[in-house]
Amino acid sequence: EGLIVSFGEMLIDFVPTVSGVSLAEAPGFLKAPGGAPANVAIAVSRLGGKSAFVGKLGDDEFGHMLAGILKENNVRADGINFDKGARTALAFVTLRADGEREFMFYRNPSADMLLTPEDLNLELIRSAKVFHYGSISLIVEPCRSAHLKAMEVAKDAGCLLSYDPNLRLPLWPSPEEARKQILSIWDKADLIKVSDVELEFLTGSDKIDDASALSLWHPNLKLLLVTLGENGSRYYTKNFKGSVDAFHVNAVDTTGAGDSFVGALLGKIVDDQSILEDEAKLREVLKFANACGAITTTKKGAIPALPSEADVLSFIKNA
Ligand code: ADP
Repeated sequence: EGLIVSFGEMLIDFVPTVSGVSLAEAPGFLKAPGGAPANVAIAVSRLGGKSAFVGKLGDDEFGHMLAGILKENNVRADGINFDKGARTALAFVTLRADGEREFMFYRNPSADMLLTPEDLNLELIRSAKVFHYGSISLIVEPCRSAHLKAMEVAKDAGCLLSYDPNLRLPLWPSPEEARKQILSIWDKADLIKVSDVELEFLTGSDKIDDASALSLWHPNLKLLLVTLGENGSRYYTKNFKGSVDAFHVNAVDTTGAGDSFVGALLGKIVDDQSILEDEAKLREVLKFANACGAITTTKKGAIPALPSEADVLSFIKNA
């Protein structure tokens, strides 16, 4: 069974102990491990697949705690570096009463930003079948160079490249810079997943339709996915396109739904790339991935809410 290597940031989210408050009003915070690439790696292993996380953590209590969480979840940790000088990144995150997520990041700089090309475990990256990444690691040097090198090494080794931009506007110098840099590596990816919000941001159009999605198509792309929260997901390939409905759930915290969806999808594709050419198979996989996303919204936090294969199968059966 093939290895999925997920590259990027892992950090601690501090989430308010009560919901629906602003960061300033929050009476206290609970620490929750986060970072989209790390969530994806754990999503894969929870479902029974093989994964590794590549990135840098602070050589501090939080960094070692995060590495421990990866190991407990059977994610390979031999691509992790620890920085002696910088701290593990922190993010304070709240879901305000108006439904908007508010982020406040502590990275000045944080350890993840200090990953260098020399830090990379190239052997691990070359042994992957799928190499997955976001865009936060593109924002500043030296991590940016490490990201570009890791992508190049993975591509040369014949890995399938999977990209989820995971837009976090507050981290970028400007929206224009975010759009430009996110799109600068666009045509290297074999698989791309965007959310509805990212689709609007990247295309500059307020329409979420086939035309706007297809404006993001590039000739070497094998699969483009647009996730639509409670409206499920849409897929585009060279030969077919369509949508798969979401499952109906009572969502309490949508954090990690997209990562759960991606982990599920990659876990299937890594062992059967014919999914990318067979619409019936792809629809079956997206149903499974939508179920994973839906389940993840029913519990607080991202990592604690990621399902096992058995959880997903029984959820689908009872739906
Ligand atoms: P992201 O976290 O990247 O914004 P989404 O929120 O669109 O991604 O979630 C990914 C997938 O998870 C969706 O395509 C959908 O299948 C499922 N999902 C997310 N939110 C809900 C919800 N409220 N109800 C049912 N399914 C959901």
